[in-house]
Amino acid sequence: MSRFFSDKYASLTPYTPGEQPKDMQYLKLNTNESPFPPSPNVSAVVEAQSRRLQLYSDPESTVVREKLAEVYGVTPQQVVVTNGSDEVLNFAFMAFADEAHPLAFPDITYGFYPVFAQLNHIPYELIPLKPDFSIDPADYIGIHKTIVIANPNAPTGLVLGLDAIEQILQSNPDNVVIVDEAYVDFGTESAIKLVDKYENLLVTQTFSKSRSMAGARLGFGIGNEKLIADLNTIRYSTNPYNVNRLTEMAGAAALEENDYYMANCRTIMENRAWTIERLEAMNFTVLSSKANFVFAKSNEIGGEALYLELKKRGVLIRHFEKDPIRDYNRITIGTMQQMQTLMDAIEAIRKEV
Ligand code: PMP
Repeated sequence: MSRFFSDKYASLTPYTPGEQPKDMQYLKLNTNESPFPPSPNVSAVVEAQSRRLQLYSDPESTVVREKLAEVYGVTPQQVVVTNGSDEVLNFAFMAFADEAHPLAFPDITYGFYPVFAQLNHIPYELIPLKPDFSIDPADYIGIHKTIVIANPNAPTGLVLGLDAIEQILQSNPDNVVIVDEAYVDFGTESAIKLVDKYENLLVTQTFSKSRSMAGARLGFGIGNEKLIADLNTIRYSTNPYNVNRLTEMAGAAALEENDYYMANCRTIMENRAWTIERLEAMNFTVLSSKANFVFAKSNEIGGEALYLELKKRGVLIRHFEKDPIRDYNRITIGTMQQMQTLMDAIEAIRKEV
């Protein structure tokens, strides 16, 4: 730390992104990227837009925002578009949480929530998951805090039903409830259909997982117009050109070919079912994930040991050195060929250990 670094951030522990080692070619099953490339028209529009990079991007991201509104059955004024969904989450924390509206989220969830809370000096309560790693909605009823729930949750992949989300919304009418749907396209019902019913609901989603655009950084939030206007006040006060023109047009093009992406999601869901079955047959405990990853524990090999043994064999998975999940690992679902490579590696490890 330099002697110039502000005391405001002296105790900040930054987020640790999934490792991207360069020492060899790995099978990357550690950051929940899609194994499928973007649709061909995405590359074509990026190529065309690259010739217009001398111009600023549209601060309203009108093209992709209108397309999102059409796809999700809302108005463009109910949509804000951001640099990945990390950015809309940070904006939402800035806009809707403070000393008087502290945050609450599960103790095991997306690791960026506590970081954004600390960055913005917002107090937060960590609410323990149940022993089976599910969220108990009763813990969020009438707590009068700004609530953040990843649905499906990460890294567990477990889902909370919309009826439970509605109870949480109804019982915390003076706080915003943020539902982070980064993984919703892999088999969960979206809360977007509730945004006209609950003025305190903000739903966030991303193009990083189901739409094969992690490297382009495109996320969005959907809520009632007033919430979105607040988020735009924060956005225009930090970075009005937050979505670059290549990404905006790529996102709009991806939505034109939504069927391609939704078919890829169905393939991932099939591969997920196969992966769970195979892992269970190899003496793993696997949570019933609705995301493009599974959270699994070998009943023979410790979590860190399995992660290191797989890394030696060129397969990266995500290990969390934290109780009570240290014996679990998060494994991204890829193509059948990739999953077969994973199974072969695990089989070899089981023979050796
Ligand atoms: N929410 C959850 C639960 C996530 O796992 C991630 C991905 N790391 C994000 C949000 C943010 O993804 P992105 O910024 O790529 O949209």
